[in-house]
Amino acid sequence: MVAKVIGTPLSPTAVKVLLLGSGELGKEVTIALQRFGVEVIAVDRYADAPAHQVAHHAEVIDMMDPDQVRAVIDKHRPHYVLPEIEAIATEALERVEAESIAEVIPSAKAVSATLNRERIRRLADEELGLPTSPYLFAGSLEEMRAAAGSIGFPCVVKPVMSSSGKGQSVLRGPEDVDAAWEAARTGARVNNDRVIVEGFVEFDYEITLLTVRAVDPATGRLATYFCDPIGHRQVDGDYVESWQPQPMSPAAYDIARSIAARIATAMGDGVATGRGVFGVELFIKGDEVYFSEVSPRPHDTGLVTMATQRLSEFELHARAVLGLPVNTIARAPGASAVIYGEHEDTAIGFAGVADALADPDVDLRLFGKPESYARRRMGVAVATAPTIEIAREKATRAAGLVTPLRADHDAETPTEIKPIPQTAPSPADDTDTEAMEAGTQAIRVPERPIRREAPPMPRPPMPQGPPQRPGPMAQPGPRGPVGPGGQRPAGPPPPRPGRIPPGMS
Ligand code: AMP
Repeated sequence: MVAKVIGTPLSPTAVKVLLLGSGELGKEVTIALQRFGVEVIAVDRYADAPAHQVAHHAEVIDMMDPDQVRAVIDKHRPHYVLPEIEAIATEALERVEAESIAEVIPSAKAVSATLNRERIRRLADEELGLPTSPYLFAGSLEEMRAAAGSIGFPCVVKPVMSSSGKGQSVLRGPEDVDAAWEAARTGARVNNDRVIVEGFVEFDYEITLLTVRAVDPATGRLATYFCDPIGHRQVDGDYVESWQPQPMSPAAYDIARSIAARIATAMGDGVATGRGVFGVELFIKGDEVYFSEVSPRPHDTGLVTMATQRLSEFELHARAVLGLPVNTIARAPGASAVIYGEHEDTAIGFAGVADALADPDVDLRLFGKPESYARRRMGVAVATAPTIEIAREKATRAAGLVTPLRADHDAETPTEIKPIPQTAPSPADDTDTEAMEAGTQAIRVPERPIRREAPPMPRPPMPQGPPQRPGPMAQPGPRGPVGPGGQRPAGPPPPRPGRIPPGMS
């Protein structure tokens, strides 16, 4: 079901999207959809979430409660439901899709499969034959001890119902088993004693390959498009910086695209459903590529695409959902660096924003989250540069210049903007001659020293591969749509049963 006509928001002709999850990624998706005149309902478990602040309607529900999920969908009758987080009552989405109440993006099946590490791992390995680390599942401490013994050490233990490194441990030897079991039980998203035990991959680097399933305007069918690979660095399972394009050998790049196409295609029915952006996470060791995970939505490491691509991953997602043409053209190499809250407080402030933006290659997003804690992602700096190395320096520097302040920061708030460092000598007096000639008065702000501290960089919980090796630059492949094995998916989209909203087919 793609939008043939886009109506007017807040009117009976509106095309409506309901977001389940209203964080920083949902906020950018909302903005991208609104630019097409789509009416957006943002839902989250707490008030004033980032996307709430920019959507037409804001709702607060318990998203793990199927009745509340169904009730909010029935209330707003959206055409599309976009799950933006994993912790959602997926059974409600399955029913909404089965009853053709709304189209779930990319599909209810994809959302349920990716919620559970066991389901996605079995799909990737057993059904699609994708290369993964060796793995076993365990439902008790004793089973886990046996699984770790047979996988071997080091290995990684993760709750099957968890995301972003939560409850995850690296086991160096049998002595780590008990602590890892406890960490998995307390870190799991839902009360579930099941864990996956994975062989530890000594990767050279890890990437997110943003993969888009969208309608190819030349054929009217779904096709697969790839963004340039994104390299990233994780601390405690959370990304702290990302860059694009990650250099890759041509062989590894080819395998990565093939894996990404197969998993993304499997997230839909191969015909009409399954549209959207997928963040395919891969580990690379030499020319070997291991599938790790897939997000059936834009990926946090893809925030960098707001600087690097002609269309960010959020704009690509919006277009793919609506059935509009996409292109994954890159603009420049770039990087992103996360800005953390650093304080446990509500309504914090940010100083140093002007200083960070003094570099014309830098841009910032402050997400507007109402509550901060030390390791909460509150913003991101993005930068472009001739190389990813310079872009990483610029983004990291800019993120470090933004200083989170407690809510009661009045006493310590810098009130002046630090002047942009001049490359040419400035006039000695306080009068800007050119501005005076033009009849305006330039405002001069006295320079004052500002003490800067780099944001804390906790030690990674698990050994990473050797430092990123500069490899041959991946040759961007053909930019057109391709399917697995270079084929486009066959067959026109079948008509979908159920409610046909205005302007939709
Ligand atoms: P995940 O929550 O599964 O995305 O894992 C978070 C991060 O932990 C990944 O991005 C990797 O840096 C690391 N990691 C996860 N699984 C493994 C593994 N099997 N081998 C090595 N590193 C891993």
